Amino acid sequence: MKAVVADPVGGPENLQLMDLPTPQPGEGEVLVKIESIGVNYIDVYFRSGLYKAPETPVKLGNEAAGTVAAVGKGVVSVRVGHRVAYAMARGSYAEYAVVPERLLVEIPDSVSFEQAAAVMLQGMTAHYLTHSTFPLKAGHTCLIHAAAGGAGLLIVQMAKMAGARVIGTTSTAEKAKLAQAQGADHMILYTRQDFVAEVKRITNDAGIDVVYDSVGKTTFHKSLDCLKPRGLMVSFGQSGGAVGEIDPLVLSQKGSLFLTRPTLANYVSDPTELKWRASDVLNWIASGRLKVQIYRTCPLAEAAQAHRDLEARITTGKLLLKP
Ligand code: NDP
Repeated sequence: MKAVVADPVGGPENLQLMDLPTPQPGEGEVLVKIESIGVNYIDVYFRSGLYKAPETPVKLGNEAAGTVAAVGKGVVSVRVGHRVAYAMARGSYAEYAVVPERLLVEIPDSVSFEQAAAVMLQGMTAHYLTHSTFPLKAGHTCLIHAAAGGAGLLIVQMAKMAGARVIGTTSTAEKAKLAQAQGADHMILYTRQDFVAEVKRITNDAGIDVVYDSVGKTTFHKSLDCLKPRGLMVSFGQSGGAVGEIDPLVLSQKGSLFLTRPTLANYVSDPTELKWRASDVLNWIASGRLKVQIYRTCPLAEAAQAHRDLEARITTGKLLLKP
């Protein structure tokens, strides 16, 4: 089968399309024939070596949708031919992948492989951030950085479903329009405007309840200045660079703030929790309540260009690869 690996880790040019043996499912595992692959920022971290993988060359991709091609011993929840999707199993930049049964969910008939591959990772992320890390309700105001990104557009929509007021940031006016079309109440161009001053103006100096910050280095400290006393800083990514060390005293000085650095794995480790998040997300897509904006679908062989576009900030919504 064809698969894209990082050999060695480094820049996008290190992504190689290789012929590898088709993997075979072991006990509790399922072989999926992949129809659509989701590209996520975490793939950049594995490709560059920021996140360490035990194998060489490094397998890429954490999300896909496809058809069950074979099942290993003990698998009971899916059969050959079922349409399935998953996130958080590396090796999806390929024609086939072996996936633990517990990570698979069935795709509703009215949801396409592309839609499913586009929402598993970022959709479940948006779900846990808005339902569990900080359960948003009417009366809350949140700040969502990179609001037109893959995760961003989904967080905006789920925050609005919960009845919260949404302030978003993006680097361009075109991106701001996209987030507004998904319900963001106020948009700030954080590359041109002082987002702390803007948040203070929008909230009449009250500040906000929670920040969902996936950008990191360039937004982290200023985001703390946007929070109400005892507000929550959710630092869940670092597309703008790693945050670095933080002195907890800063949280006291800025108003007894809370800080969390969550990751999806800890919010889907329980199978019931995973099914809850995945079925909410897929059912909302099926009913049209949640929209996923697919920016582009590239052939698997063009994974390097997909990474270049993501890192150059030119994408909005979701990038997909087609094996
Ligand atoms: P996005 O589609 O959001 O792409 C990244 C966006 O970040 C860009 O479009 C850009 O938006 C913004 N950005 C700001 N500064 C930079 C920079 N210097 N270089 C590149 N981009 C920059 O990607 P994803 O939705 O896949 O992921 C967003 C972040 O969320 C990543 O850090 C990812 O690791 C994290 N994440 C974390 C999860 C978790 O559970 N902890 C799960 C899923 C994602 P703009 O131009 O508007 O500034």
